[in-house]
Order: sequence, then C-alpha cells, then structure tokens
Amino acid sequence: MKTSQFSLSKPVAWCFLLFLTLFAATSRADDTFLGLKVPAQSDGLSEGPTDFHTNLRPIGEVRAVMLFALFPDTTQLEEPQDLYNKLVPEAQAFFERTSYGRMHLKVEMVNRWIPMDHPTTWPGYDCSRFESQRDYLAETIRKAQSEVNFQNYDVVYVVGSLGKGLPNSPTFIAPIGSGIRAGEKEVRLAVTFGRDCRGANWGFQTLCHETGHICGLPDLYLFGVSPKPYKNIHTAVGFWDLMGFQAVASPYLAWQRRKLGWLDDKDFLILPKGSKSSKQWIEPIDRRNGKRPAAVSIPVSDTEAIVCEVRPRDPGDTDPKNTGLLVYRVSMTAASGHGPIQILPAAADDLNPNSERKYITLYNALYINKTHIELSDYSITLDLTGARRADGSLELRIIRK
Ligand SMILES: [Zn+2]
Repeated sequence: MKTSQFSLSKPVAWCFLLFLTLFAATSRADDTFLGLKVPAQSDGLSEGPTDFHTNLRPIGEVRAVMLFALFPDTTQLEEPQDLYNKLVPEAQAFFERTSYGRMHLKVEMVNRWIPMDHPTTWPGYDCSRFESQRDYLAETIRKAQSEVNFQNYDVVYVVGSLGKGLPNSPTFIAPIGSGIRAGEKEVRLAVTFGRDCRGANWGFQTLCHETGHICGLPDLYLFGVSPKPYKNIHTAVGFWDLMGFQAVASPYLAWQRRKLGWLDDKDFLILPKGSKSSKQWIEPIDRRNGKRPAAVSIPVSDTEAIVCEVRPRDPGDTDPKNTGLLVYRVSMTAASGHGPIQILPAAADDLNPNSERKYITLYNALYINKTHIELSDYSITLDLTGARRADGSLELRIIRK
C-alpha cells in the first residue's frame, strides 16, 4: 500500500492550501483526457483528471454544514447568519450556473458560536500546518457533535471569529484514514474560513475558490512570485477563472469544468496531432445549448494542449455581441500554483488603477471579431472568420501546420 505524504504549499496572498501527495495512487497510464495522455503519476492538485477517491465529485447534491468557532480573543462579534449570508447564497448560485445545473450545493448551518478553548494566536490552531488545522477542526466538530450528524455531510465549513491571529482561508483535504473521526463519519474535506472572507471581493468567491480545491482544482495564481505589485502573481490567468483572481467571480474555464464533470469529452472539439484543419462554431461557454462544441482542445504534446473557448469579459454580460475567443495553454503536469494554465492574450493591458482593482491583469485577453492568431511555438493558426451567431457563437478555423 502506498504511503500518503503531506506537503504544504507556500502561503501566498489570500489562499493557503494544504494538499496531499499521492504518488502513483492515481495511475491511469492507459487513459486519455481531452486528447492528452494522462501522466502515470498524479502529484496533488493538477489539470489532469481528478482522483475522486480523495476529492469530492461535484455532481448532484453536495451537502455541507457550516459551523462558527468563537475564540476567546475575539475583537468583533458578528452574527453567524450574516456570515452565512455573505458566503453561501451567491456561491450556491455560482455552482448551479457554472455546472449547468449538475451541482447543487446545500449548506446547513449551526446558528450559534461554538466557544473554543484557546485564542486565535494559539499555535495549536495554526492553519498553515495540516496537523494543527486538523486539531482546530476536530475541536469544533467535537463540540458540535451533539447537534450535528456529520454522516449527512460531504464537506464541513468552519468560520472563525475575528481575532488577531485568525489566518486566511485554507482548504483541508485529508487522505482516507487521516481525517477527523465524528461518530461513523470521517471528515476529510473542510475549509476553515478566516479573515479574508470578510473582504469585499473575498466573500462567496472564497467559498467557491476553496470548494474548487476540495473538488480537485489547482491554484491558477502563481506561487513563488513577489506580490509587489500584487498583479505579478496573477499573470497566468488573471481574473478569467476564480481559481486565479477572485473579484469578478469568473466561472471556471472549460478545461476545469471538464475536470469537475460538468462538461464531457463530447462537448469539446479535440484536434489531435496529425489531424488537418477544422472549421467549427464554438458556443459561448455560459450560454450552452449543447448543439455545438463548448471549447476546442488542441494537443501540442503528450501532456499539454491549446484550448479555446468563447465568453464575454464580464460573467454577467449577456450581450451576445460581446463574446470573444479566449486562448490558453494547459499543462497536466505543472503543479498547483506553478502555471498549469497560461492564458495567451490578444493584447497587453490598458487598465487604469480603478479597473485594475477589479480585473487585476489580462484585461485584453479576448480575441474579438475577425482575427488571425499565429501560435508559432505550436505550429497552429487560429482564424476567427468574423461570423457570429445570434447567441454569441463564433466561427473558428484551426490549421495545424
Ligand atoms: Zn487556492
């Protein structure tokens, strides 16, 4: 039996993530995923297929319970219901919409503060370490056990009260056997919500981001990069996917929706190596009627693909005239936080300081109207023919040289 090891991602900006390393545990060497060969080994969260033995498969009803942990050094007492309202309803709508109705997030709350034994500054609650985050969760779960049957839930959300030592909001993903025993249930999937989820741009978006990790999505912002200026860590995908910069609450990219099981292979036009050109209508990713592909996957190596999808810049923009083509490179072997997805933008930013707060970077990433795109590194040419349907679908010609 393989041994699971824990490693800790660097605490970067607003998100920490404890992830586990399951060497060879997800071996699927014979499989393909959107035209790519699945690596023989899976190393934590990646853009390869998700190991749903460890992560949560977000299909059907996903049941969560939200608990509220009160620390003795609390500086500002909030109402649990207010925090629930900030975090949950818009997240439920996000998942309903982004999953095409395949995921229904149901969150029940224990509407009281659960007193904790120690202050936020106690090292035993350090959520940057797996063991102490587990201890924090375990104490909260133990104190709620008389009123919660944890067997009824897939995920536990714990919101901490505001104190000096309250961290940001890390995800907790434990391999089988390393979680928290709560009666017959082993709690393995949880989020401890911290200071950041009170921010204007970090409420329900934080819940969506961290729940994305629980379902197997990697971080799309960059680890190991100086956050001065802050946009430096968002040069891979900017605001175009909520696993990157959260403020706009952009829905997950098409590739990630395939990972989550919200799109299928048949929803993609896959153009394998050796194939010739193809001309195809691509539907807007958020206005699907399923008659045409939702995206294109063009494998450029065993583990990398160029992906194209059609969407507006703002997720709430329903004007079909505002859709454009988003082009990005996906690597199934790049680790979380190390650029598993890189957008190939149409043009450089022209953001003013106010817009930058919302869009951070890659503002001009969309290709709009008639456009000729040369991806010379990959010997691929993409042509938007200029044809546009009433629903915002765009006609794309792909040429492999
Ligand atoms: Zn994250």
